[in-house]
Amino acid sequence: MIPAAGSPVSSAPAWHTLTLAATAQKLQTDPDRGLTTQQVLQRQQEYGPNELIATSGRSRWQVLLDQFSNIMLLMLIAVAAVSAALAIEEGEFPKDALAILLIVGLNGGLGYLQESRAEKALAALKKLASPSVRVERDGLWQEIPASKLVPGDRVLLEAGVQIPADGRLAEAVNLQVREAALTGEAVAVVKQADCVLPADTELGERRNMAFMGTEVLQGRGILLVTSTGMRTELGKVATLLQSVETEPTPLQRRMNQLGNVLVFGSLALVAVVVVVGLLQAGNMAPFTSLLETSLSMAVAVVPEGLPAVITVTLAIGTQRMVRRNALIRRLPAVETLGSVTTICSDKTGTLTENKMVVTEIVTASHHYHLTGTGYIPQGSFYCRGEPVDPQGAPDLLAVLRATVFCNDALLQANIQPAGVRNPRSAVSSQPPSPTWSILGDPTEAALLVAAAKANLQKASLQEQCPRVQELPFSSERKRMSVVIQEKGGFRVYVKGSPELVLERCDRIQNAEGWRWLSEEVRQDILNTNDQMAAQGTRVLGVATLELEWIPSNLEEVEQNLIWLGLVGMHDAPRPEAREAVARCQAAGIRTLMITGDHQLTAVAIARDLGIIGPDDRAVEGRALSRMSADELLETVRTVNVYARVAPEHKLRIVQALQKQNQFVAMTGDGVNDAPALRQADIGIAMGITGTDVSKEASDMVLLDDNFATIVAAIEEGRVVYSNIRRFVKYILGSNIGEVLTVAAAPILGLGAVPLTPLQILWMNLVTDGLPALALAMEPAEPGVMDKPPFSPKESIFAQGLGAYMVRIGVFFAITTIIMMLIVENYTLHWRTMVFTTLCVAQMGHAVAVRSNNKLIVETNPFSNPYLFWAVLATLLLQFALLYVPFLRNFFGTEALTRDELWICMGFSSLIMVWVEMEKLYFRWRQGSRPSQPEPAPTT
Ligand code: ATP
Repeated sequence: MIPAAGSPVSSAPAWHTLTLAATAQKLQTDPDRGLTTQQVLQRQQEYGPNELIATSGRSRWQVLLDQFSNIMLLMLIAVAAVSAALAIEEGEFPKDALAILLIVGLNGGLGYLQESRAEKALAALKKLASPSVRVERDGLWQEIPASKLVPGDRVLLEAGVQIPADGRLAEAVNLQVREAALTGEAVAVVKQADCVLPADTELGERRNMAFMGTEVLQGRGILLVTSTGMRTELGKVATLLQSVETEPTPLQRRMNQLGNVLVFGSLALVAVVVVVGLLQAGNMAPFTSLLETSLSMAVAVVPEGLPAVITVTLAIGTQRMVRRNALIRRLPAVETLGSVTTICSDKTGTLTENKMVVTEIVTASHHYHLTGTGYIPQGSFYCRGEPVDPQGAPDLLAVLRATVFCNDALLQANIQPAGVRNPRSAVSSQPPSPTWSILGDPTEAALLVAAAKANLQKASLQEQCPRVQELPFSSERKRMSVVIQEKGGFRVYVKGSPELVLERCDRIQNAEGWRWLSEEVRQDILNTNDQMAAQGTRVLGVATLELEWIPSNLEEVEQNLIWLGLVGMHDAPRPEAREAVARCQAAGIRTLMITGDHQLTAVAIARDLGIIGPDDRAVEGRALSRMSADELLETVRTVNVYARVAPEHKLRIVQALQKQNQFVAMTGDGVNDAPALRQADIGIAMGITGTDVSKEASDMVLLDDNFATIVAAIEEGRVVYSNIRRFVKYILGSNIGEVLTVAAAPILGLGAVPLTPLQILWMNLVTDGLPALALAMEPAEPGVMDKPPFSPKESIFAQGLGAYMVRIGVFFAITTIIMMLIVENYTLHWRTMVFTTLCVAQMGHAVAVRSNNKLIVETNPFSNPYLFWAVLATLLLQFALLYVPFLRNFFGTEALTRDELWICMGFSSLIMVWVEMEKLYFRWRQGSRPSQPEPAPTT
């Protein structure tokens, strides 16, 4: 009976004290069919989405205050104070001080906004990968986002699932849950469905309940949802685990260090200028003007626009990656992805398509072949080229029955109208044809499809022979076992890795019943297994045993089994993976395959994809277990394929690779992959097949489970990194130029400070900031994946960047100082000319700095239209400052004459010419020494 729609509970009862029937009644849900669609809609309205409201743990004020703890901003505040005091003393309006404070405020505010936006963006991205759950509604199992759950839903729990809501267990088979998220207790709790507990039972001891945010480590269960969202136990805890991490990225850390260097460097320079100035004068007269110079220098040295540009770059990188199906869960991954030197990838689903089709079944007496494609349960059976009717082949039927019973997947027909309806007649031109969809593990789904081709349907078989016990599949055991109830008794079915299942058999099924398994037959089976695996086929072994009772420990009866046969399935390598492996090789990145599958299957697929050559070997997990630490180090240096591995081997492999200074990206999908994912420099979880636990442990989630996506993300990481380097050298080169120009004026005996703090702020924020933002949008340079990875530990100044900045800064200063010395004698506008020259020179620099070694004429001007618009806008704004009277007054500029403007243009263009000449020089040097290729001057 389907209960009436309506609200299940007005006040939440102590669910653990109720029997299952009472719980279902209270929740007004059908214990066999779940809720109806109407009930779900009503409850969704009433209870809202099943979501926790994330909080970051820091108050908004704290976040805002943190923005001002930066040493550069603190220095600017000090500068503003001194500048205000000077202005007031001279009876002037302290506009420099106000502008500086405004910029400080803006910078802090922007940082605050960026930080909260980054938090929100990360939270939104995380939601994209938010877990989906299997629920039963209207008697149909379906997969839905966990946020859509309502009280009363029946939810399937499997190993690796993060429990999506609080609920009463309706079934629990071997169910072990880690409740650390709630109770802090890391040891798994064994759950039970059929008990009723006293009202005062502690949360951690409520065996018949499961709680949101805790993790299923083992087993299977069905949960009747009792509360969702903020009404759950986890929701009641004030600061939530779902909070988004906002750890500083390595780059932000480097930038903070850079801030320190700049601040202390400029203070030292200020001291020199003041001392030299006073010594030159021989008295204290120039003190005020030296103080003004110092203030300008202090403002000039701080790259005010840089933090915003960096945040935007990282955000753009994250967006670009998600467009390519790589979802970033931790921000540092955006910039460190480009450093990956080794990718350790699973095979099934990542390097292969994970669209399994059973192609062969080998029993004691026959070798069958199957036809058919995809998950459509239509196809035929052949033996030695002759068609076979499965109903007349009991050995075949026995294998197929075993694989259906030992199976948690679902194959569902979705009836959809096919063909075009004739609008004039109401009759469809073709009958409706079903499309088939699967729920669960593709390996198991493929087995259901094969059985359906022989007319064996899971639903009816399970109805005749219900499952009474099970040990679900796990990567450690590499097999799954169930006990079913048959007429007159019970039967165990085991399916899994052929070697492991065969080890547990002592008999083999034949037409007469069974016979003892001789060594020879055993070897024959293993040979056939190897032959199938060597073709790249994924092979499972199947066995059975009659039982008279339900075993108390299923593992104990997994012996003396009767062998039924081998099942081979085809899982094609992904075509795009082949290309991606080749790209990795060109990019100096090693690809390792680490799989639970058979060695020969792994080798066949790895060869096909180009991961190993024809003579390369693979190593098995068993061998890894026996290796000493040194042997393992030696092995990971040369071996690219690891087969039949368990999750703990993955951890050892990552650690060994890291000991060799490799920067490792590692994929994983199972619960037990979490330690290896955490250990890896970039842990990568599977968006489709991955468990919630593995996603939680990862830095990045592949939305399409595809190896090629990892390579795309690495490419984007490299682009982000090279763009960051590009605008850092662009911005800081100009800062150095400004500081030196300002410092030179008093030393060269010029009467006034060439640039006011306000003008410097303008340059750093507008004329440097806008083009720098555009440079952050620069697309990948060709060849970005033809270079070896950069070291994650390298300083931002590595690969010649520091030297470039100093060269450019000094050149900036020399050209400007020369111009300053010439024009100072002829025009009163010399200060505005210095200001304009520095600004316009940066425009030329921006265009030239786009490429490291291509000349401007060789780059496509339209490949980054943002830069064109940024340069145009900046030039117009600069002219506005010269020719709009109000702005002129405010910024203290003068209207330049045409000739003066030409002189500024001429001197400005020298920077562009210099950068282009440098490129030619480095190209020439590279060309003249082909045997020792040198990296481009800066990347
Ligand atoms: P990868 O580690 O590359 O994803 P995999 O899927 O083969 O590859 P596991 O899932 O650890 O790795 O499986 C290991 C072995 O266990 C498989 O080779 C197969 O023999 C067996 N196996 C896989 N899935 C099942 C299943 N659902 N039931 C029983 N045995 C299975």
